[in-house]
Amino acid sequence: MTKIISVNAGSSSLKFKLFEMPTEDVLISGIAERIGLADGIFKIEINGEKKVINIPIPNHKVAVELLMKSLIENNIIKKFDEIEGVGHRVVQGGSHFDKTAVVTPEVEEIVESLCNLAPLHNPANLLCYREFKNVLPTALHTFVFDTAFHQTIEPETYLYPVPYEWYSEHKVRKYGAHGTSHQFVSKRVAEILNKPLEDVNTITCHLGNGASISAIKGGKSINTSMGFTPLGGVMMGTRCGDLDPSVVFYMQQKLGLTPQETDFILNKKSGMLGISGFSSDARDIQDKVDENDERAILTQKIYVNRAINIIGGYFVQLGRLDNIVFTAGIGENDATIRELILKSLEEALGLEIDYELNSKIRGKEIKISKDNSKVAVYIIPTNEELVIAYDTYSLLKK
Ligand code: ADP
Repeated sequence: MTKIISVNAGSSSLKFKLFEMPTEDVLISGIAERIGLADGIFKIEINGEKKVINIPIPNHKVAVELLMKSLIENNIIKKFDEIEGVGHRVVQGGSHFDKTAVVTPEVEEIVESLCNLAPLHNPANLLCYREFKNVLPTALHTFVFDTAFHQTIEPETYLYPVPYEWYSEHKVRKYGAHGTSHQFVSKRVAEILNKPLEDVNTITCHLGNGASISAIKGGKSINTSMGFTPLGGVMMGTRCGDLDPSVVFYMQQKLGLTPQETDFILNKKSGMLGISGFSSDARDIQDKVDENDERAILTQKIYVNRAINIIGGYFVQLGRLDNIVFTAGIGENDATIRELILKSLEEALGLEIDYELNSKIRGKEIKISKDNSKVAVYIIPTNEELVIAYDTYSLLKK
């Protein structure tokens, strides 16, 4: 048995899951939150039992130390070197990585050079890697890129119609994100169908706080809604998604906003929060919809409209569509959003949905379309941590 830890670091959080491979048993999972603030929170879960510790977590180094200490204290390991592999989620791999990479000084340097493409994420990913490398020097460390799965997208899809030098000199193009999730659920649906991956075309809807939709042809991503950064594409919790770029210049002038302020508003104050005016959380929106709140209803309508426009485009681009898969927080749990999206697609795509079944399902793998539906519709809980652990395990065994 091999112990592999999957790590997902953000600027103020550190999520982890320790797997026993290849059995996929989860020994412990947890999250350090509010890193950098005085009132940090460290949560762990072992065999369904949860513990919450309130403790200052001034930086990622302390978060990693807390995590490692919790492994010993809870008798998960006796010595640090029992952990043989650490898979680090890295948001931006640019055009350099089309698969998971073992971390070497060169790989680290490339990821460092991509920090300006993902200023909120890559620095935190690197910082966290370095802390883990210090405490686990003998383990195999890998970088699992959010962008890698989308490297199969063709130039006519990933290029923007702007001066070509913006791409050739400044790397401006569509990179996409959530690659591990789109890969996982599209593979899983082929397994469920018991068909070779090459024969299955799927549109995967990863609808979480961040959200993206992808077109997967025979196991390869041919389009995805997120763009140069995770700001593009569908409407999200606090992100605007696709936008006429002139809105940016117009509002900068109108409100005297700096580029940084505009970036903040489009990333943190837009999307569901921006339209509803009260929350970025789909559950809060639903509660207000139930009370007939007009802005909440409008929020849901825009959300659905944005999603079906993307799905419709991908349906055409794929040529033949076999499945639609819903995953992540909203995709797995929000039956209303799923129903609204599917009802809007029903006629065009020849969908036959069991809405009664759909309304009852939360976070469970299931087919919600009827057998006579032209396109099958599934809910498949995503498992990005497992993809990270698997990739790391495979590289360790090589
Ligand atoms: P991320 O990983 O991008 O932070 P998640 O995949 O956890 O996001 O998704 C968060 C979203 O999922 C939130 O909008 C939340 O409201 C929604 N969500 C989670 N559970 C439910 C539920 N039971 N019903 C409806 N929406 C839910």
